[in-house]
Amino acid sequence: MTALDATTVTDHANTAWDGIVPVLHEYIAIPNVSLDFDPQWRENGHMAEAVELIAGWCRDRPIPGMTLEVMELPERTPMIIIEIPATAGASADDTVLADDTVLADDTVLADDTVLADDTVLLYGHLDKQPEMEGWRDGLGPWTPVQDGDRLYGRGGADDGYAAFASLAAIEAVHAAGGSHTRCIVLIEASEESGSPDLPAYIDALTDRIGTPSLVVCLDSGCIDYERMWVTTSLRGVVVGRLTVDIVTEGLHSGDASGMVPSSFRIARQLLDRVEDSITGELLLPELRTEIPAGRVHCRTGSSERQRSRRKTPHPGAYPQWKLTGTAQNYGRHPGKQPDTRRNPCTRGSSQVYG
Ligand SMILES: [Zn+2]
Repeated sequence: MTALDATTVTDHANTAWDGIVPVLHEYIAIPNVSLDFDPQWRENGHMAEAVELIAGWCRDRPIPGMTLEVMELPERTPMIIIEIPATAGASADDTVLADDTVLADDTVLADDTVLADDTVLLYGHLDKQPEMEGWRDGLGPWTPVQDGDRLYGRGGADDGYAAFASLAAIEAVHAAGGSHTRCIVLIEASEESGSPDLPAYIDALTDRIGTPSLVVCLDSGCIDYERMWVTTSLRGVVVGRLTVDIVTEGLHSGDASGMVPSSFRIARQLLDRVEDSITGELLLPELRTEIPAGRVHCRTGSSERQRSRRKTPHPGAYPQWKLTGTAQNYGRHPGKQPDTRRNPCTRGSSQVYG
C-alpha cells in the first residue's frame, strides 16, 4: 500500500469545501421534509428542488466516466444514482483495504491495491427532518446561518452533506493520483420516514449495484470535530401503532371509571409483554441478537491495541450526555453516569444499553 499525499488531499478538500458551502446554504433553505411530514411532497415540489440542486452540483464534477441518473419509480420518492468507474490504476487481483491498518497522522487512505471489478457503495439521503422547535434567536430550519465554522439550518449535516462529501472524496483521490474501485453513490429521499422507498430501489438496481465489498453510509454522528469518526454499527428500530379500543363513545369519568377498564392500563400491560418497564430489558427473544464476535472483542477491548487506546480518555464516553432513562445497565443505579471507559464501537451492542 502507498499513502496518498496528505497535503494534496487536504488542499483539494479545502478548495472543494469552499465551493460546497454556498450550495449547502441553498440546500438548507429548501423545506424538503421527508414524506411522513409532507404527504404532499410531490405537489409542493421541495423534494424535486433539492434533487435538482444536488444532482446539478454532482453532474458538474469533473470525474472521468461518471454518470448520474435521477430515477423515480412509480409512487416513490426519487433516487439519485451516480456511477463512477474504477480508476485505471485499480489492480485486477489484489485486496481492498487491509482492515487492520492504522493510519499515521500524515497519511490518508492507502489505496493502490483496489479491485478493478469490485464496487464500493456510498449512501446518503436528501429528505429532512421537520422544522421542530427550540432554534436559537436568529436561527431557523430554513435559514442558513454560518457562525464561525459552523453552518446552522435543517439538513446540512443530516444528510445534505453526503453527496458532496462522497464526490469530493473521490475527486481528492484523483487529485492525489490515487486509484479506487468502481463506486456507486445512492442518494435516497425517504430516509427520515424509515426509508420505505429504499428497498424498491435496491431491488430495481440490483444488477447495477452488484455485490459491494464495502458500504459507506454517510449518515451517522460524531462526538467531536477533532478527529475522524466511523460508526461500525447502530441499533435498529421497530415502529408500530398500538390501538386499544374499549368503548364506542366517550363516557363521563363519574359514570364509568372503575366500571370500564382503563385503556392505558391495558396498553401498559401489552407493552410490558415486550419490555420490562422497570429495567428496560427486552423480553421478546426476537428483539435480541447475538453480538458479532468482532464487536464483543471491541467492547471488552481485549486486544493490545484496544488496551493501549484505553489509556487515554476516549471521547466515546459521551460525558456531555445525561442519561435519565431506565436503560438496563443504569436504571438500577439512579444517577450513575455511563462507564467512561466504554469504547464507542459498543454502539449497537444490546448488552450495553439493554
Ligand atoms: Zn440521516
